[in-house]
Amino acid sequence: MAATLKNFLNALDCRQIFYHEPHKPHELVLRKRTLVRFFLIFLFLTLTGCEQTQPSRSEFALGTVCTITLYEQGDKTVYNNIFSRIREIENLMSVNIPSSDISRINAAAGIEPVQVQKETFNVIERALYFARLSGGAFDPTIGPIVSLWNINGDNPQVPSREKIDASLPLVNWRNIELDAEKRGVYLTRRGMTLDLGAIAKGYAADEAAVIIKNAGISRALIDLGGNILIIGEKPDKKPWSVGIQNPLDNRGSVIGVLHTAEKTIVTSGVYERFFKENDRRYHHLFDPSQGYPAQTGLLSVTLVTGVSMDADALSTAIFVLGYAKGLSLLKTLPDTEAIFVFEDKSVRTTSGINFTLTDDSFRLQP
Ligand code: ADP
Ligand code: MG
Repeated sequence: MAATLKNFLNALDCRQIFYHEPHKPHELVLRKRTLVRFFLIFLFLTLTGCEQTQPSRSEFALGTVCTITLYEQGDKTVYNNIFSRIREIENLMSVNIPSSDISRINAAAGIEPVQVQKETFNVIERALYFARLSGGAFDPTIGPIVSLWNINGDNPQVPSREKIDASLPLVNWRNIELDAEKRGVYLTRRGMTLDLGAIAKGYAADEAAVIIKNAGISRALIDLGGNILIIGEKPDKKPWSVGIQNPLDNRGSVIGVLHTAEKTIVTSGVYERFFKENDRRYHHLFDPSQGYPAQTGLLSVTLVTGVSMDADALSTAIFVLGYAKGLSLLKTLPDTEAIFVFEDKSVRTTSGINFTLTDDSFRLQP
């Protein structure tokens, strides 16, 4: 049994490891869970004996465990630079840090525009691009709904219909006004709040990749809480293998393996953050038109493409759109592939995906 597990893990170069961490205020819970996860990662790395045994570093940032593995010339300075950069982005874009650009924009909603750093401005512009592209399925003004469900807090609960109805008018990406010259961002209604939770990790992964490439490192893995970005080729030139998380099990089991070249692999799924009430599961991917967790028959959507920020936004957008509309959108985008896992345990992929199912309780559909 142990040998089978070891053989199986050996076959994977990396696998998506997902966490549902509460945010910083709940430090006790967080430390316990983080420790357990660090231990699990350590155990995994020890077990695999494959390339992941190369030095890697994990730190808690952006509300999740971030792991960087540099396969060559990975000295301490490069790791330090990457993690400082990730924290820099967190300090600009987190809704949980009062001095962040995003918190300042939110505090000034309905009052005045706020001048932000160029990169915050750029990420908001990109978020708006995906809001438009997805017909509002992705909406960075989802903040009031996220707060209402308290999905990242200690006591998440199903809000009353009245409360949802009162918050819904505040969710509308068209009510963000941008002034490119002044780098000004204005939310036109009081009570509106921006939330870049579905795009910022992708941006941070892209920025980590810039540092790694500038340092002349040709092979690396970036894993920001399951947002994977692969840099370079394997020495044997074979495809990388990435395990795709079983969305019905949050303990790191996989349903199959994606074989891929140097790409970013980003999943949005029902297991990342959720709670149960009256036997029903409520997850953290909201339908902005309803104010409820999106119910489209999907358990997860994995995007495989070149830019991690785009993959991050698209995985959320397509999860909310559902399979049919999501697929139509995907067809308009070059070099963008996806894996869909459905509630009935069927799995579908777009034509450019090379995926091997390993859990036979799921079914791969043509
Ligand atoms: P994760 O961050 O768990 O990896 P996602 O990238 O899909 O998963 O982002 C989910 C987060 O994005 C939620 O926690 C919430 O903050 C925010 N969010 C939820 N629904 C939407 C939506 N429809 N559009 C934009 N952001 C959303
Ligand atoms: Mg996302």
